[in-house]
Amino acid sequence: PTSVVLFTADLRLHDHPPLRAALEGGHEVVPLFVRDSGIADPFRGAPNRLAFLDDCLRDLDAGLRRRGGRLVVRSGDVVEEVCKAVTEADADDVHMAADVSAYAHLRERRLRSALEAEGRRLHVHDTVTTAVAPGAVTPASSDHFAVFTPYYRQWSGRRLRDTLGAPRAVRVPAGVGSEELRSRSAAGVSPGLAEGGETLGRKRLAAWLRSGVAAYEDRHDDMAGDATSRLSPFLHFGTLSPVEVVHRVRRVGGPGAEAFVRQVAWRDFHRQVLAARTDAATADYRTKHDRWRSARTAREDVEAWRAGRTGYPVVDAAMRQLRHEGWMHNRARLLTASFLAKTLYVDWRIGARHFLDLLVDGDIANNQLNWQWVAGTGTDTRPNRVLNPLTQGKRHDPDGAYVRRWVPELADIEGGAVHEPWKLSGRDRSAAAGYPEPVVDLAEGLARFRRARGRE
Ligand code: FAD
Repeated sequence: PTSVVLFTADLRLHDHPPLRAALEGGHEVVPLFVRDSGIADPFRGAPNRLAFLDDCLRDLDAGLRRRGGRLVVRSGDVVEEVCKAVTEADADDVHMAADVSAYAHLRERRLRSALEAEGRRLHVHDTVTTAVAPGAVTPASSDHFAVFTPYYRQWSGRRLRDTLGAPRAVRVPAGVGSEELRSRSAAGVSPGLAEGGETLGRKRLAAWLRSGVAAYEDRHDDMAGDATSRLSPFLHFGTLSPVEVVHRVRRVGGPGAEAFVRQVAWRDFHRQVLAARTDAATADYRTKHDRWRSARTAREDVEAWRAGRTGYPVVDAAMRQLRHEGWMHNRARLLTASFLAKTLYVDWRIGARHFLDLLVDGDIANNQLNWQWVAGTGTDTRPNRVLNPLTQGKRHDPDGAYVRRWVPELADIEGGAVHEPWKLSGRDRSAAAGYPEPVVDLAEGLARFRRARGRE
């Protein structure tokens, strides 16, 4: 018997339940990836994600070849391509991972009915892209948790399934055509973009367990120290399994490990929100706000924010890191998002779109729902808090090293003074001459926010 394994956001060989199930009993498998024309922009992949994806596919193919197989890559409508592969291989069934977006639900329904019409079966596996499946833990009165803390309590109490090793051998039937694998394209790609693939993801995880996670609780908000795992793109593309990550981090133990696992639980939390309320990718989740400044009046401010020229050094450093690396520190994401959605009072969807255009880990659940959390339309139980970029800068980049790293106009200003360039005088003032004036007065921004939210 032969099975097709459809890879989506699970581009790995270790701890892969669909592949394991398909191989059971020595079956032949067609490991298939479809460059799906049906996924709408901006979720399909901006240049940074497409480049990282190409790395992941080449690495997956190399891993399969070491085991006697190969990756089959196609482009087009995912349902049509799966059906063609099923016919070419005369496969009995298809295995794939469950996923949470409206598009993923539609894809699953379409695939199931197309396959059943041909007398074949679709098997959808949980806990491939999450540690705990959406809906596996629920509050008494709803199909999902809307608040993180009680979710986390139940999530932590769940026993996770055991980790599966990588298969030793994969036999792929002859006669199933594949496109050539691409080398990473450079067009529009951030110069500092990380490399992708399961091999590198596993190396990074091992290094993190050895020498990063222990200090995570104390250091995760130190922006210049850059002391987070940077595993997010590997989790986004599924080159690492969240179940395996949680097991291995828990084995390290201690407060750092616990704080880190809690962040991985945030990822599952957002996914169970989106699975239950797929419209939350674009529609306000809990509280609707519609008094955002119009795109026309806010245009210059939005441009300054995107370009990293708001005149608030820590905001600008973060926005430039995003452009340069396709990645941003979590603290930086929080404060730049708060600056756009609350201080500038611009619709969170405009900011979320810019993040998705650039983030290598840009993810429909994590990005959209974190933006909603920050904007006060989502799951934050204190939706009216506003992060002050000055206080944030002084607290999380006290010496100013993060700002100096990303804002060359301020590279010669020593210490924390770099956070308030408008206070500089003498030589320092001339050194910082190319740096812009603030686009908004923080007190005015706060007053506008309070008016718009009816909290004056
Ligand atoms: P670590 O601190 O090492 O955390 C480990 C892992 O936990 C991360 O890789 C990630 O998978 C998960 N995680 C950590 N924080 C969060 C969180 N707040 N929500 C959900 N999962 C979390 N993360 C994405 O993966 N994709 C996105 O598109 C994305 N957009 C965001 C947008 C905004 C406005 C904000 C505030 C946060 C966003 N995050 C997103 C969450 C978080 O900022 C990143 O996951 C984190 O910065 C990635 O770096 P890391 O791997 O070093 O994180």
